[in-house]
Amino acid sequence: MAKDPVCGMEVNEQQAASQGLTSNYQGRTYSFCSSDCKRQFDQNPQQYVGQQTT
Ligand SMILES: [Zn+2]
Repeated sequence: MAKDPVCGMEVNEQQAASQGLTSNYQGRTYSFCSSDCKRQFDQNPQQYVGQQTT
């Protein structure tokens, strides 16, 4: 399971990928619970990953 960085929900990565609900940013793949979360992330990814050091 992956964590949706926008809303914090647990997301099944394979299911998200099959629905196109993933985004690549800085070499990492992020999975989302919905197209709304993906859209929010795509508009401002730094807001959601900026606090991670990895
Ligand atoms: Zn979400």
